[in-house]
Amino acid sequence: MPKVVLDNESLLNLATCAYDETCEAGIIKKCVPLYSKLLNCTSLKILKNYGGEVTDVETFHSNTNLKWEIIINHFSTNNTVYKYDGAYFYKLNLSDYGQLILGTKTSLSLDTVDTLRPIASIHGKLLMLACDDVQAIESETSLIESQKAQTLSLEINHASVFKNDFETRTVKSTPHLYYYLGYNKDELPNTIEAATNMIYPDDLPNVMEAFNEHVMGNVAEYYCEFRIRSKHGNWVWVDGRGKIISRNAAGEPKELLGISQVITKRKNAEIELIKEKEKAQESDRLKSAFLANMSHEIRTPMNGILGFAQLLKQPLLESAEQSSYIEIIENSGKRMLSIINDLVDLSKIEAGQMEVSISEFSIGEVSKYIYNFFKTEVENKGMQLNLQLTESRKRQIVTSDKEKLIAILSNLVNNAIKYSNEGIIELGITIEFNMVHFHVKDTGIGITPEHQKIIFNRFVQTSSSDLIQKKEGVGLGLAICKAYVEMLNGKIWLESEEGVGSTFYFCIPIGQT
Ligand code: ADP
Repeated sequence: MPKVVLDNESLLNLATCAYDETCEAGIIKKCVPLYSKLLNCTSLKILKNYGGEVTDVETFHSNTNLKWEIIINHFSTNNTVYKYDGAYFYKLNLSDYGQLILGTKTSLSLDTVDTLRPIASIHGKLLMLACDDVQAIESETSLIESQKAQTLSLEINHASVFKNDFETRTVKSTPHLYYYLGYNKDELPNTIEAATNMIYPDDLPNVMEAFNEHVMGNVAEYYCEFRIRSKHGNWVWVDGRGKIISRNAAGEPKELLGISQVITKRKNAEIELIKEKEKAQESDRLKSAFLANMSHEIRTPMNGILGFAQLLKQPLLESAEQSSYIEIIENSGKRMLSIINDLVDLSKIEAGQMEVSISEFSIGEVSKYIYNFFKTEVENKGMQLNLQLTESRKRQIVTSDKEKLIAILSNLVNNAIKYSNEGIIELGITIEFNMVHFHVKDTGIGITPEHQKIIFNRFVQTSSSDLIQKKEGVGLGLAICKAYVEMLNGKIWLESEEGVGSTFYFCIPIGQT
């Protein structure tokens, strides 16, 4: 017969079932069924000592035919084992309280019954034993639980705890950070040099500075953020924090305990925030620069109009002079109108109020309009305007917004004239896969690669006046072109080389609904 072993779970149950129970009978009632289970009892009875008499208190399991009186009577002579009616009965003393009679189908060794004696002695050993063990179990369980929680947290945060030994120059670390970075257990850095070599070189001075600050005692722990190389060669943001846990006789650090974890998400959010802030600041700066430039752009033609209108008042003005003044006033007026139109268009685009008005028209009509409109101006500058469009393509019908298409082309050709002093300006139109492709090519000053990237942004000329050769204009034309092309479901881009010239390309669908 094996010894009954009180396993942890039974003890835990025992202690918790008796918990809060102050009366002895209550404790017994609650505990007894439990250990009767441990012994596979078929019948069980509690007897209480009452003024020298033994009183039957409670029967837990019993065969109805069982003659308990005979058994109780038998045990009153102090025997501890009794075989009766094919079953085995055992008596245990419940300290001063009374007795417990257990009935089992198979015989138990007295050793086994003895194992239960501390349980039976309720006020004495039972609960103390149970509670002590439960406490031990609980603290063991909580230790295991807290270790599990720590491991889980290291795993979830892709973090590693590490210990550096500066005398042996070795590192010991848990693996989760390195697993995240694609390394396996054998590839964990085990020397300080190996760990340092994984740090992004530009970040290393920061790491060293943070560490030295801590070594000198200026900060209670060291903390820094840096990148380390993953197995696949990319750089991953992590943070490191730690403390010196021992120093040698000379006061130099001997051991450092720390933790490092992946902070990519937070770092990316931070970088995004900084970018957003810079963008907002840039946009503010652009707006202020735009306003300053705008007042200049408006004041110049306005001064022209007012100044020459004043001159016109002179009574004896020659007719040639008069016509030249009137021409200046007219051009200044046109210039102002164009600025105001651009501004109105841009505010409408920004407010989402710019509407698309679709109609059918031929490519020929639009190209002829542009060509005729700009030809003289180009020739007056000693340049040539070429139209590249086959006769058959001229008849191609397009369903789109004609006015917007004319506005885009006018802007591009106008810029080509403005930013070229010699050579040829070419307007080319081709059709490919249901798209009409346009290009406006010049042999002008060209655009630097940096400015090609920002040229379609609003107010660009004003913001980059140091880099872009400044001409009359407020830097809204290309922003409007881009917005229009996109409204027509198309795309716009450019190729340019400084000193050689620029080509602006855009395409829109032939048929738009
Ligand atoms: P702007 O009214 O100032 O011309 P745009 O938006 O049309 O405004 O153009 C923005 C800037 O792009 C211009 O100020 C100029 O510096 C540059 N740019 C535009 N087109 C050309 C071109 N064909 N050649 C050289 N630079 C150009």
